[in-house]
Amino acid sequence: MKVETIIKRCEDLYDDLDFNYVKDWKEKNKAGAIGFMPVYAPRELIHAAGMLPVGIMGGGDNLEIIRGDAYFQSYICRIPRSTIELGVSGRLDFLDGMLFPAICDVIRNLSGMWQIMFEGKYIKYLDMPQNFGAEGRRFYLTELAGMAKAFEKISGNKITPEALNHSFGLYNENRHLITELYDLRSQMPHKVKTAELFLLMRASNILEVGEHTKMLRDYITAISNSERPERDHVRVVVTGTFCEQPPLTLVKALENSGCFIVDDDWVLGNRYQLEPIAIGDKPIEALADAYLGETVATASRYVPGPGKGDYLVRQVRERKAEGVIFAAPSFCDPALLDRPMIQEVLARENIPYTAFKYAENTGQIQVIKEQTGTFADSIKLWGSQ
Ligand code: SF4
Repeated sequence: MKVETIIKRCEDLYDDLDFNYVKDWKEKNKAGAIGFMPVYAPRELIHAAGMLPVGIMGGGDNLEIIRGDAYFQSYICRIPRSTIELGVSGRLDFLDGMLFPAICDVIRNLSGMWQIMFEGKYIKYLDMPQNFGAEGRRFYLTELAGMAKAFEKISGNKITPEALNHSFGLYNENRHLITELYDLRSQMPHKVKTAELFLLMRASNILEVGEHTKMLRDYITAISNSERPERDHVRVVVTGTFCEQPPLTLVKALENSGCFIVDDDWVLGNRYQLEPIAIGDKPIEALADAYLGETVATASRYVPGPGKGDYLVRQVRERKAEGVIFAAPSFCDPALLDRPMIQEVLARENIPYTAFKYAENTGQIQVIKEQTGTFADSIKLWGSQ
């Protein structure tokens, strides 16, 4: 399959705010769909109940907000407003339930509003443990058991150990290919365009996991055999984009400003765990342990001890990046509170960085492009160390 054909399919999914793929999937499979907000949700549990997990990441830059603004004050990020707009306009009526993982106060408030607005639907504020020891494990196991019961009721299917292990296998394979894709981009950033990778990651929110895995495989094969010109770009890591996503135009602008993005944190939930989930006799425990164990570091996850920023430094070193771009959604408390602490670590390590804020409907792309272009030029002229 051609790269262009795969990316066109991703673009169609990205642009479709009526979620026609999901509606068709439900009709064809006579099954339910459960939505989830960023960053992480246990998609395997939804899948094992025979339902489709659907990542909801706001309305992007294609959605005009008419009623969503009335629900929130002006000084918060945009994703809750556009998600409300999707909800009140009936675009999310196909969902049989919705998960709101605990990443910030905004999402917590949104989950409360959702419960009032969509009475009768399954709405879950998913309180993720921030204690990664025995207490956190016990707590998360209770949360998972409660969700499993709810998903069984909605779907009418029992979540058996076999079903869960089967789902683990599919998601493990998917994560493996995503890792391969990220590694490939780092090795050949002139071939694996970041805008394409971004679209592939966004498609993972919508497509059934097996279909997405096939898409990744097709893309990796097609891009490995393609010819694209080398470019004299600077290698950077983009961080801070784990929740509200930048618009595609902004992702393209970063790349066109002279930066090869060699790592990032968008659509982070589908590569949150760094290790495969263990397949075995106690799958619920395995799911909990995978969340509590080896994962990426992100602002919504507590880092015990003095290790704040270490993960980013490691990313920079391993990807041979020359600088970091902090790109946070406007008013995003978790990203913006973390930033000074991490900047301090980068300064200590002599890693150059620049920072800007965006919204999912940012239109002032040119200003950001000039800023990141100047950043790339300064690294080329004066080096990164
Ligand atoms: S963008 Fe930031 S502040 Fe807004 S909902 Fe997401 S994590 Fe919370």
